[in-house]
Amino acid sequence: MRVHVKTNRPQHALHARQLVRFVRSQQGGKCNAYGEDFKIWNLEINHIIPKAKGGGDYYENYQLLCGSCNRVKGDRPMEYLRMKIEARERMMKTKIFFGE
Ligand SMILES: [Zn+2]
Repeated sequence: MRVHVKTNRPQHALHARQLVRFVRSQQGGKCNAYGEDFKIWNLEINHIIPKAKGGGDYYENYQLLCGSCNRVKGDRPMEYLRMKIEARERMMKTKIFFGE
């Protein structure tokens, strides 16, 4: 698979593997949504601005999400995913009790 990205040189084609390595190092090896460490087999490329919303194939619009975050986000904007993560955290806080 080859991915076309906008760089200084237009129409520069980049291998998906190079793209993943680049974005992964930008994110410090963590999921861009929740910050958990990636398992290498569990990372998925996601468009930050969905293509359906006018997002393009350029570096700045790529991020790596873990499989579960990516499934929640789908082609929705990041705000949606953040909202879902916050809701999940709130739920966990109210449901976990440390009693005797
Ligand atoms: Zn994640």
